[in-house]
Amino acid sequence: MNDKKNYGFTTTILHNDRRKGIEHGSLHKPVHTSVAFGYADARQLASVFQGKEPGFRYGRQGNPTVSALEDKINQMEQGVGTLCFATGMGAIGAVFQALLRAGDHVVSSSFLFGNTNSLWQTTMAQGVGVSFVDATSVEAVAAAINDNTRLVFVETIANPRTQIADLARIGELCRARGILYVVDNTMTTPYLFRPKDVGAGLVVNALTKSIGGHGIALGGSLTDTGAYDWTRFPNIYENYKKAAARQWGLAQIRAKGLRDFGASLAPEAAHHIAVGAETLALRMERTCANALALARLLEADQRVAAVYYPGLASHPQHALAGELFRSYGSLLSFELKDGIDCFDFLNRLQLAIPASNLGDTRTLIIPVAHTIFYEMGAERRATMGIAESLIRVSVGIEDTDDLLADFASALNAS
Ligand SMILES: *Cc1c(COP(=O)(O)O)cnc(C)c1O
Repeated sequence: MNDKKNYGFTTTILHNDRRKGIEHGSLHKPVHTSVAFGYADARQLASVFQGKEPGFRYGRQGNPTVSALEDKINQMEQGVGTLCFATGMGAIGAVFQALLRAGDHVVSSSFLFGNTNSLWQTTMAQGVGVSFVDATSVEAVAAAINDNTRLVFVETIANPRTQIADLARIGELCRARGILYVVDNTMTTPYLFRPKDVGAGLVVNALTKSIGGHGIALGGSLTDTGAYDWTRFPNIYENYKKAAARQWGLAQIRAKGLRDFGASLAPEAAHHIAVGAETLALRMERTCANALALARLLEADQRVAAVYYPGLASHPQHALAGELFRSYGSLLSFELKDGIDCFDFLNRLQLAIPASNLGDTRTLIIPVAHTIFYEMGAERRATMGIAESLIRVSVGIEDTDDLLADFASALNAS
């Protein structure tokens, strides 16, 4: 293939393996299951270990199949480098573990994926200060920053209440203060939004969700966008300052986060995710259209008390979402009117499946306070704007009419 660089999103992903050359003319990067990689010349083994030439050493630090996926995610996010992990939490945990030290301070959105919130609690117990702020307001973020603030962490569209962080202004603030800006792009995916465009230095993607898309493999990734100047980051060890400064961050995360903690992505999972990623754009078009149609149906129904979806004009950040994102996402949440039992309602649905996970091809639905946000307790739920009756829907690719009919008949019987 020629080296034309400006292919569209899907074309780039579909042809990426082949452009790098694959044995036998294979169109997919094979699943390389070998844990070790042998070298005919022992000196070459040593020089790979010392980072003097490229190559694989041991499966925990890197694998050719995983590396082919890393390259695709990197293309999607237009980064300078990407690392994959066994799960999205593995990726987030690696950031905290590799980059933060006791005495450091972090500003985090308070509208967070539940397990990220739980991980911050652990980090706090280990001596890192965390200020939780309303990230829809750049002023709140600015007010929480102090001299020890090492990073600001936000999600694009918060799960499950769909608040949208003031992404661009927080990016400007971080740039001015020399603070690392970490954006969890899981809910938008690089198809709807590239955090690099608002100055994010590191981008998290839970590959388990829409990128893999079929709910058959766990995975996570971290992309360094090149936007952050690592010479301003005080926690980089001398060992990882050998290459150009733009590689310092990932070098340290690869060693301290991936190699030492070992949440490495398995090659079989990388293959599943890579196949799923080929249709990310097509699936997102369909799930976003379905989500908007469903949000409108719910909002118009008198048995529904509230609907949270960025595509509705009633959403507080509707205009912002329109400016930032290609579309409004596949996730919505809603509350039924008092007196309607949410479990009975869920049990009346024939297509939407009561299950955790999101970004699946199938529509999944879950009562939030009773499940994924149960452990944190009512008080913290209230500060996150999560009503006890909140229901989250991850909208799939079902035929729109079938999906709408399923919800309409469950509501009609309420
Ligand atoms: C699911 C999710 C994660 C964690 O991903 P896993 O692969 O389940 O570990 C992180 N952030 C967000 C926003 C998520 O939805």
